[in-house]
Amino acid sequence: MTRWTDAAARLCQHGTVDDTERDPRPYVLWDVDGTLLRNGVNAGGLYGEAIELAIGRPLEHPVPRVHGKTDGQIIWEALDANGLPRDLHSLASAHLDRLSLERHLGGSRREIAPGVVGALRAFAERGFVNALLTGNSANRTRYKMEGAGLDTLAFDWGHSYFGDTAPLRAEITLRAAAELEGHRLVIIGDTPGDGIGADAAGIPFIAVATGHYTVAELRETGAALVVEDLLGGLPEVLAALAGLPSLDRA
Ligand SMILES: [Mg+2]
Repeated sequence: MTRWTDAAARLCQHGTVDDTERDPRPYVLWDVDGTLLRNGVNAGGLYGEAIELAIGRPLEHPVPRVHGKTDGQIIWEALDANGLPRDLHSLASAHLDRLSLERHLGGSRREIAPGVVGALRAFAERGFVNALLTGNSANRTRYKMEGAGLDTLAFDWGHSYFGDTAPLRAEITLRAAAELEGHRLVIIGDTPGDGIGADAAGIPFIAVATGHYTVAELRETGAALVVEDLLGGLPEVLAALAGLPSLDRA
């Protein structure tokens, strides 16, 4: 657990818990795609469609690989790859939200990843706040969750962090770390990109192999813990979380 200790020590450098503060509850910041929900079969297709709607013609070059990137980043990269003006970003983002809603209303259903419902409950029972840290916009996150039948009320949306304009995931994690300074934090995600973002903000990272990446690939990240999924891996995750509170007071 050396990495965990290191990450917690980094957290201490810019935020320690003041015992006199009101309710410094620990937060579990959840990634969405591949972590809370199984990836869609055509995970990248919607981005290209949104940009094509914004420009009114087909894209010349495909949208670069999307796993672990923020919506904002994917759109910036696809615009650049196609030599398109960057001020098309907000229009493409609006189309992306609308396409997600259409998919949601059209019955395109995502599946909840194994063990997620039990993990959400177990974390809450232990005093952790479940919140979101995702490359999706808030709207897209909501549509996907509702489509999958995941209870949106299980999350603190007021302290959740979204990436519809963020060019890099680190921008979202740094925003979360600044706003939740003094709270103990942990990120749960399914990609090396989640780990890089967590590292950038000194937030401990737990990886689940329910998305595009394998346990072996995720072990190459700075993750404190890697589990196959939250069904079999839940006891290990709970043990790791139980170790978190004392570390940032050291
Ligand atoms: Mg993900």
